[in-house]
Amino acid sequence: MIYDAAALPHPLVLEADVCVVGSGAGGGTAAMVAAEAGLRVVVLEAGAFVPPEAMTQREEQMIPALLWDHGGRTTADRAVAIHQGRAVGGSTVHNLNLIKRVPDAILEAWRRERGLSHLSLARWHALYDEAEALLGVTDVPEALVSRHNRVLRDGAEALGWRGGRLRHNRAGCQTSGFCLLGCAYDAKNNVPRVVLPRAVRAGATVLSNAQAVRVEQDDGRARAVVARAIDPVTRVTRGRVEIRARHVCLSASATGTAALLARSEVPDPSGTTGRGLRVHPALVVAGEMRDEVRAWQGVPQSYECTEHLTLTGTARPPLGTRTWIVPAFAHPIGTATMLPGLGAEHRRLMRLYPRLAVLTAMIHDETAGRVRPSGELGVELDYWPDAADRAELLFGLEACARLLFAAGARRVFVPTHPVTELSPSDPFPRFALERGSMPVTAVHPMASVPMGDDPRASAVGSDGAHHHVDGLWVADGSLFPTSIGVPPQLSIYAMGLHVGRAIAGRGARGRA
Ligand SMILES: Cc1cc2nc3c(=O)[nH]c(=O)nc-3n(C[C@H](O)[C@H](O)[C@H](O)COP(=O)(O)OP(=O)(O)OC[C@H]3O[C@@H](n4cnc5c(N)ncnc54)[C@H](O)[C@@H]3O)c2cc1C
Ligand code: SF4
Repeated sequence: MIYDAAALPHPLVLEADVCVVGSGAGGGTAAMVAAEAGLRVVVLEAGAFVPPEAMTQREEQMIPALLWDHGGRTTADRAVAIHQGRAVGGSTVHNLNLIKRVPDAILEAWRRERGLSHLSLARWHALYDEAEALLGVTDVPEALVSRHNRVLRDGAEALGWRGGRLRHNRAGCQTSGFCLLGCAYDAKNNVPRVVLPRAVRAGATVLSNAQAVRVEQDDGRARAVVARAIDPVTRVTRGRVEIRARHVCLSASATGTAALLARSEVPDPSGTTGRGLRVHPALVVAGEMRDEVRAWQGVPQSYECTEHLTLTGTARPPLGTRTWIVPAFAHPIGTATMLPGLGAEHRRLMRLYPRLAVLTAMIHDETAGRVRPSGELGVELDYWPDAADRAELLFGLEACARLLFAAGARRVFVPTHPVTELSPSDPFPRFALERGSMPVTAVHPMASVPMGDDPRASAVGSDGAHHHVDGLWVADGSLFPTSIGVPPQLSIYAMGLHVGRAIAGRGARGRA
């Protein structure tokens, strides 16, 4: 069952075999596997349960309801916006349903550098097969490629650049275009639709509006999770929740998990907890097309340009090999916040909205950022791309502009202050990327608790078990040793299956 922790009597104390913190791609899947193995599972989720009938398709309502910090989460210096889901189902509720596997070259580099004895290449492939079957992954059909995505395809074909249609986890899509605000048609094969129902059928209990603040330990063993029941509207604490469990699985995302480990003073002689954060930072460029694009209509992302993405797993590859380009649609409020200028100048740009095509260049980043807890309930994030990553981002910016012009854009807008307007014959300016000079956004935090076999160099092993606290596990994007260069959800679902199974193995032995 799914209960609202804020509406239950407090203090609330429950006993379980496994307490999973976070109900996103990693936590939901780990909970499903553990529950189906017969373990008593309680999932704590800081966000609310928002069913499809409550998805109103309105930005001002859904973004605060589904994202951390009302959609306004940023790094401490406010230079990078980091969007993350906070709801039953985590970021899978509002994400864009793209499915990619991490290339073998990266998986092999991880094994060479960090051992990862539980994650052979064959094991990864089996996990991917299983996760794709779970999520009903298919190619996006040609009929679902929107006008906006065809702009990118036209540009790539005109330049002779590599690209292609994407794969996704949707079924029964009505092409409404509201994926980022949650799907009112329940057409996403995500955690709430395909994973948690199985967990709940197997007996798992999900507590929404329950934010974990600390993992309690005794003699080097996890013993319980202490949480706060949070009012879903005011976000005021309503009471204390404690889940006593032999196994605690942290799946609170790459920001939440690292913050919880640090706040709980979990030992880590390697000093790596919270220090390897990657985010796949991205820049956007808009083009004014001759005809209406109506970018808000249809499946938001169905075509990718991979001309400048060659993932080899080696450090510091040449400039122009770490950039992934896709359309980046935003609803009106999101677009208004990204477009520079004020008053009449801003209105002039917004009037172009129906004819705007927007591309984003997201990079496979090498900069390591930092996650720290902030008070009892918050996280503090430090991340600013280093010189090589900034150069790659600016390379991507220019590549997006070239694609838009090749697709027939009359003008291209780079969101500097004031806006930089370019016509097809203009040389592309040399920009410097400085804090605040352009909006830098990220939606893929990962690698904040990088796994490895050596307890002196990592906090968590490649089965998700913590090296220094028995019964403590991690199952989310924190585990990746580096950036992965592609959208991460499939790999995080795979980690949920993998770690859930390891917990089930230990849990079963613990009971015998
Ligand atoms: C706008 C957007 C679009 C995206 N599109 C795609 C895409 O198309 N394809 C793709 O592969 N990836 C996409 N992603 C990324 C993908 O959704 C995430 O990488 C993935 O869901 C992360 O899984 P996770 O389990 O690590 O964390 P999440 O799915 O974010 O789940 C973590 C959960 O833990 C909860 N939590 C955090 N702290 C606590 C706490 N202390 N106590 C209790 N609960 C807590 C959070 O509220 C959240 O619900 C997108 C992300 C965003 C933001
Ligand atoms: S485009 Fe499809 S998956 Fe996205 S919100 Fe609309 S119906 Fe749902």
